[in-house]
Amino acid sequence: MATIGFIGLGNMGGPMALNLLKAGHAVKGFDLSDEAVQRIVDAGGSKADSAVAAATDVDVVVSMLPAGRHVKGVYLGDAGIIAASRPGTLFIDCSTIDVDSAREVIAAAEAAGRPMVDAPVSGGVGGAAAGTLTFMVGGTGAAFAAAEPYLQKMGKKIVHAGGAGNGQAAKICNNMLLGISMIGVCEAFALAEKLGVEHQTLFDISSTASGQCWSLTTYCPVPGPVPTSPANNDYKPGFAVDMMLKDLKLAQDAAGSSGAATPLGAAAAALYQQYSDAGQGGADFSGIVRMLREMAGK
Ligand code: NAD
Repeated sequence: MATIGFIGLGNMGGPMALNLLKAGHAVKGFDLSDEAVQRIVDAGGSKADSAVAAATDVDVVVSMLPAGRHVKGVYLGDAGIIAASRPGTLFIDCSTIDVDSAREVIAAAEAAGRPMVDAPVSGGVGGAAAGTLTFMVGGTGAAFAAAEPYLQKMGKKIVHAGGAGNGQAAKICNNMLLGISMIGVCEAFALAEKLGVEHQTLFDISSTASGQCWSLTTYCPVPGPVPTSPANNDYKPGFAVDMMLKDLKLAQDAAGSSGAATPLGAAAAALYQQYSDAGQGGADFSGIVRMLREMAGK
């Protein structure tokens, strides 16, 4: 069994660290919040007083932090965890961050002789607790092979998406597609309402026709056709608008720096920004159908 330093014990990182403990690993946790660290100590882990302490004399470091600036701040420089770790320490960053930052940090780790992967997740807090996350992993074949056994303790599906940063890249491409398809489905229902077509009728037709997609058949944004979708629960998340907005902005940043044309991705980011600005950042992202109805009234 390995000794693992875990940095970032929030809504996602906390339950992920608990699953590593349950699997029999020794976990040394660090977070800016003492409460978050205490939960790991109560479950049999140990407390690190700093990120550097969490990365010292361990076999593996897992991080689950808010954004690229936090990851760069923790990993890079003379006071960072790469410099503090022993050679050969395996680094696994599970945060959702911009592709450029992920590649910069992995290049620094590999140059120092520390294998590293980016391994962002989908599956949310429920998936983190149940150990059923999907990991999209970027890095060398050797780094992926080293990381996979640990990821299996926290998730169900582990996909090697290619070289460094490709985990982040795959995640934001998928979530950009999801944001666009959700708005498309919402627009179709909003138009159908104006034209006098029942929700269930459009669902029955489109769910077996060329308009079929996950946003319609699994996550239907109007109540009724898919009883488990958040539309039936007053648009409680699910997947919150501000999380979708974060991923859409990361996709726009990546499109800008790589020179890809993503006009619908840009439109989706602008619409979710508008919905968030209207005070709906905590609502489920399928609730944007309500904003479309309001826009029609103006
Ligand atoms: P969170 O805010 O609950 O947790 C982040 C934790 O990082 C906090 O406890 C914070 O104190 C800690 N932190 C910040 N800077 C730190 C530092 N320098 N050193 C140590 N700890 C530090 O956020 P979360 O929901 O757990 O999300 C974490 C990451 O997972 C984000 O990148 C997010 O986009 C991604 N993600 C979240 C979800 C979700 O449903 N919550 C789903 C998929 C991916």
